[in-house]
Amino acid sequence: MSITNEYLKGVYDGLVQRNPEQKEFLQAAEEVLESLEPVIAAHPEYEKAGLIERMVEPERVVMFRVPWVDDNGKVQVNRGYRVQFNSAIGPYKGGLRFHPSVNLSIIKFLGFEQCFKNSLTGLPMGGGKGGADFDPHGKSDGEVMRFCQSFMTELYRHIGPDTDVPAGDIGVGGREVGYLFGQYKRIRNEFTGVLTGKGIPFGGSLARTEATGYGLCYFADEMLKANGKSFQGAKVVISGSGNVAIYANQKATQLGGKVIAMSDSNGYIVDENGIDYKVMQEIKEVKRARIKTYLDYVPTAKYVEGSQGIWTVACDIALPCATQNELPLEGAKALVANGCYAVAEGANMPSTPEAIAYLQANNVLFAPAKASNAGGVATSGLEMSQNSLRLGWTFEEVDQRLHDIMVNIYKNAAAAAEEYGCKGNLVAGANIAGFLKIASAMMSQGI
Ligand code: GLU
Repeated sequence: MSITNEYLKGVYDGLVQRNPEQKEFLQAAEEVLESLEPVIAAHPEYEKAGLIERMVEPERVVMFRVPWVDDNGKVQVNRGYRVQFNSAIGPYKGGLRFHPSVNLSIIKFLGFEQCFKNSLTGLPMGGGKGGADFDPHGKSDGEVMRFCQSFMTELYRHIGPDTDVPAGDIGVGGREVGYLFGQYKRIRNEFTGVLTGKGIPFGGSLARTEATGYGLCYFADEMLKANGKSFQGAKVVISGSGNVAIYANQKATQLGGKVIAMSDSNGYIVDENGIDYKVMQEIKEVKRARIKTYLDYVPTAKYVEGSQGIWTVACDIALPCATQNELPLEGAKALVANGCYAVAEGANMPSTPEAIAYLQANNVLFAPAKASNAGGVATSGLEMSQNSLRLGWTFEEVDQRLHDIMVNIYKNAAAAAEEYGCKGNLVAGANIAGFLKIASAMMSQGI
């Protein structure tokens, strides 16, 4: 435990006492609190206002039963969640995750991170997150639809276009958002921008699908340029093969990099000739198959069982785009040993604290998720703007705005790090820059 400031340490200890089992949430909170030490030293008024105690406690947590009928006519029951973490700067905003690992700790960590990430985008969005311990893998389309409908039959009463605007995350893509939106509309008899990541024919934004992966590469590109490097000619390893990974591949390739490895939870593939994102798109989004299927398309590629080995593939740039804590210390050591000089996070909290410390100590440029994967929710914010205006922008217009937002996030995080005495540390810079806006709004709004 490296929090030294007494006030912050007290808040963290209280958090541990109240939520001893919530390890992911505590991990996310500890990192932010550590980063805030110089800010608290400069702003003693925050302690009197109990600002940090308030920030680490969600405004509201909803947990609910999700009953649904499977294809055999049997009733299944899952648990649904929505954590409305902080609405100081806008309506709660954040995705829904459907994955068997989902529990309150995971949703709280994601909701907490989302507050700072959304603040960094510069758009008026508070932080929230939700989901269920439902596993969409191996379920029929009808089962997924009935699950989504049941989930929304409870969730609808807690959300709204000016209250809380969910979107996708792991296990929730365009198909699921469509079913969720349909059920909200059926119940409320209202056509609103209550969800983002919608299909283009019913209020979705162009470039939203690509946004997290593109935004990640725009951010990484900015960080690389500031350090005299670029994607040009670089070997890139991307863990994961979902929405973020696929479009990170496309953009990294467009920027001159060569993506030589990708993974899923079963294993990873290596293709030294470069992995075509369109092949991955077909395998994962059309066939919904395992990554091993890549060998049917490119027999010369290599497939290795076990996803962890991907960090041993020699590369210049690594983009962890799968899930939390997927890049541990051993992975970081392997990357450094093989000459990797930049890691930019596409997933939420994919690197463990030990991995981050090791990478930073070895002068690897490190882009934290809150900043580098903010392009998804930023474009969700642009979808909300278009819905409010009742019009749609072109792909190029949205993409340009996304690019500008990512460049700004980089500049703000880098500037905050420098101002608070941790130049070059984007983890601290992103936490501080995200925090300052929320803090200011909360101080203005009273207790
Ligand atoms: N799930 C994404 C994230 O982690 C996007 C959330 C959104 O668009 O609201 O930021």
